[in-house]
Amino acid sequence: MNLQQEEEKRLIQEHYEDLLKNCTRCNSDEDKALIQKAFNLANEAHKGVRRKSGEPYIIHPIAVAKIVTSEIGLGAKSIACALLHDVVEDTDYTVEDMERIFGKKIASIIDGLTKISGVFDANSSLQAENFRKMLLTLADDIRVILIKLADRLHNMRTLDSLAPHKQMKIAGETIYLYAPLAHRLGLYAIKIELEDLSLKYRFPQVFEEIKNRIADSEKKRIQLINHFSLPIIKKLADNSIDFEITGRPKSIYSIWKKIQSKNVTFEDIYDLLAIRIIFKPYPHIPEKTQCWHIYSLITDIYKPKPDRIRDWVSTPKANGYEALHCTVMGPNGHWIEVQIRTQRMDDIAERGFAAHWKYKEIDASSQENELDKWVKRIKEMLENPQANALDFLDEFKLNLFSSEIIVFTPKGDTKTLPKGATTLDFAYEIHSEIGNKAIGAKVNHKLVPLSYELNSGDQIEIITATTQKPSWESLNYVITAKAKLAIKSALKAETKNRLEKGKGLVEKKLAELGITPSSRVFKKILPAYEVLSKDELYSKVGSSLISLDDLKKILKKNTKSKWIKYWGLQFASNPLRKKVVEENDDFDDEETIQPHPKIDLKLPYLLRETQDENAPSYIVAKCCNPIPGDEVIGSITPEENVIIHKATCVEAIRIMSQHGDRIVSAKWTTHKVLSFLARIEVRGMDRVGILSELIKVISDELRVNIRKLHIDSHDGIFESIIDLYVHNISDLNNLVMNVMKIKGIDSVKRVEKFDD
Ligand code: MN
Repeated sequence: MNLQQEEEKRLIQEHYEDLLKNCTRCNSDEDKALIQKAFNLANEAHKGVRRKSGEPYIIHPIAVAKIVTSEIGLGAKSIACALLHDVVEDTDYTVEDMERIFGKKIASIIDGLTKISGVFDANSSLQAENFRKMLLTLADDIRVILIKLADRLHNMRTLDSLAPHKQMKIAGETIYLYAPLAHRLGLYAIKIELEDLSLKYRFPQVFEEIKNRIADSEKKRIQLINHFSLPIIKKLADNSIDFEITGRPKSIYSIWKKIQSKNVTFEDIYDLLAIRIIFKPYPHIPEKTQCWHIYSLITDIYKPKPDRIRDWVSTPKANGYEALHCTVMGPNGHWIEVQIRTQRMDDIAERGFAAHWKYKEIDASSQENELDKWVKRIKEMLENPQANALDFLDEFKLNLFSSEIIVFTPKGDTKTLPKGATTLDFAYEIHSEIGNKAIGAKVNHKLVPLSYELNSGDQIEIITATTQKPSWESLNYVITAKAKLAIKSALKAETKNRLEKGKGLVEKKLAELGITPSSRVFKKILPAYEVLSKDELYSKVGSSLISLDDLKKILKKNTKSKWIKYWGLQFASNPLRKKVVEENDDFDDEETIQPHPKIDLKLPYLLRETQDENAPSYIVAKCCNPIPGDEVIGSITPEENVIIHKATCVEAIRIMSQHGDRIVSAKWTTHKVLSFLARIEVRGMDRVGILSELIKVISDELRVNIRKLHIDSHDGIFESIIDLYVHNISDLNNLVMNVMKIKGIDSVKRVEKFDD
């Protein structure tokens, strides 16, 4: 054996003896023998292997075993397992060997540990739910999880020697999975250490900065705490209470998290001081009574904040935490939190249920038994869906993998979606039919629209309706390829359906009229309906945008007949053929609006109402429903019919872009003979009488005829759609102004696109 080997052997022995010193509970010869046997085997198995840091590998299992006993409080079997935890994974020993040498129980724990590291360390995108399930299935003994936590804690403590990218991965996993798990198991000290260590590697600069600032303000903090504590110390001593008072600073991670989530400064948080009073209770007096006695003594000195009392003595937290918390006003106007605990409660708060055994009157043989009870209780917590199982999952909202979110179905199954996914994405993730029929959703039992962006941990229930169909608009709500594809294929099918339906209707109508479809026939029909192709006609007929009621008229119409006669309009000229007669008497500049500048190439038509009641009125385009006074343009069909659009109408702009020669500018005279249908939308706060007032203003004061009225009232909001007859734009403007004056009315809008 050379010098280096000698030195190493001495080092290992030193570490091992330190471990044994900490195994205070393992007093039986049997326990001691088990630990020794495990150490001997592990030491032999890992011989010659080094960690990245260069130290002998066995130092790591020894350190894990030490955490297992001194920081978690587990017994001899667990210490043995900790010593052996990497043997099956990293050496030639098998689980069968372990069973043969150490028995079934230890073998199964080591097996669990080996499997856990297989699943975990290889696959970084493990989901919270899978993680929990895996814990339950693999860790059929909860000690597997506890030893794994100890393993991770030691790895975090020695993370320095790894490459930066490995540090990030391990630190990420730690904050995502292990720290919440430690919290869940009530292992506070471990949780806080894992969090701080994780922060140290994830955000080294932030970590250093906060650490330094804590150091800087430490002196001031201690002064404040001392100033605050002095009267309390005196009072408690006068009352013969055996206690300790500490003013522990908050953890670096908790300060960082508060700065992040509450958008506050370091000083804001640091000012929130807390002290802890840990006392030795008198026997035979309930701990609860004694806690409240101390509370009473403290509030004799400082005024308590009434809504900040937390009594976890009467009702401990689900993870076993017990303490009485209150916040009092300190001498310098600072709110200071005071935590009152017995020694037992403090032990449990720091070390979880593992501390329980210490307070039970138990003989050595039943120790493991007591531990089993604790282990069973933790396992129950993990299994029980009621007892804050959701809290457990809540912890996992801290999403390491920021490009993904994990959400839940009503039954608690998980779905992974990209960040930014909406309720509609989720619906398609479940099934394309659910996506197609979705009309809304409940997220965490609250009603939300399909466009709602989901967060990790959300539980989603999709609301469907059989009549629902996806729309082009739906495509704006989704980000997943799956949803987009499903919507597009549904829309395609829908278009195909509509085409077929429209084709059927057109063919049926033509058959009724005894006409054989031919290109000549379509040449006549298409322009009349302002469509460019047969498909467009079919599609619009199929979706009821075009009605075929006037098909007969269109087909029968003699294309040579004069448009003036047909439309019952008097046009000053036909700009397609002649020069415009500009000096028209009826042309009243005062009452007309200049045509749209874009189409000012041709001089305007003058649209004038005819006095002839029987003559058909000129056609007002349904897509924009212009009324006299609006800026309008005319679209001339090959038969020289005129359809009037608002100059701003999208449809008119489409026709203009494709058939510029069919567009003519037009001016509208505004004689008050004919009425035009206009639609307005009124919104406001619902109140008694608002409707009758609205109708009164419209029909009595303004003498406008209401054709149709639709009212919707919900959540105190009043929404109404009113179709009314007006003569021209000034009628309408006047009406809008008067309706706006009604108390409670919030907005009045003209609706351009509607069918009467
Ligand atoms: Mn390990």
